[in-house]
Amino acid sequence: MPDNNANKNEMPTARLDAVRDRIARAAREAGRRPGDVVLIAVSKTFGEEAICPLLDAGQRVFGENRVQEAARKWPALRERYSDIELHLIGPLQTNKLDDALGLFDVFHTLDRPKLAEALVKAREKGRTLPRLFVQVNTGDEPQKAGLAPKDVDGFLARCRDEWALDIEGLMCIPPVDEEPALHFALLDKIARRNGLTGLSMGMSGDFETAVKLGATHVRVGSALFGVRA
Ligand SMILES: *Cc1c(COP(=O)(O)O)cnc(C)c1O
Repeated sequence: MPDNNANKNEMPTARLDAVRDRIARAAREAGRRPGDVVLIAVSKTFGEEAICPLLDAGQRVFGENRVQEAARKWPALRERYSDIELHLIGPLQTNKLDDALGLFDVFHTLDRPKLAEALVKAREKGRTLPRLFVQVNTGDEPQKAGLAPKDVDGFLARCRDEWALDIEGLMCIPPVDEEPALHFALLDKIARRNGLTGLSMGMSGDFETAVKLGATHVRVGSALFGVRA
């Protein structure tokens, strides 16, 4: 684990360069192209003063885990910077779906039929749907969101046949006390047998492992922004 406090006074863009380098190196070591891995800068809890330097350095893909917080921060930034791509990486309640549709380009946390059906209703009303990842609770943790691994194939079949929802890939957050590689490998296996190519996996502590195991999207917060309050 990098010592984030030691980085506190470093230029944020130096951290960005360092993370990009580490992604590129891990990709090459695995025989992959660095450009095939999207870095999602997870800016939750951080304000414009932390986010703008990354925007100025060319970073355009960001992640937030709360709809209300994203609604406070991102509309103004979108006016100032073009081509921002915002990813929702936290749980979504159906009563916040309308707001989330107006804010986010990608949802990583589709994890239940009720939310799928709410998306279908929104589409019927003419809303454009975001790109979608299905969240998998690879560790079968009772407190964690996501579908149990055994339920994923059936859910994906319903997305396709019943709801006509285009699913781009799968997302997971491994249990904190377990070897993440096992969870990344499991996510990859479930994605492959369902013909999905997107894998949203890897955070500050384990994104290189995730890249080596096929991540197409890594969600990195503290390694870019420092420790969260
Ligand atoms: C906060 C968060 C991250 C980023 O975590 P870091 O360890 O700070 O990189 C990634 N994914 C999800 C779902 C998160 O909530």
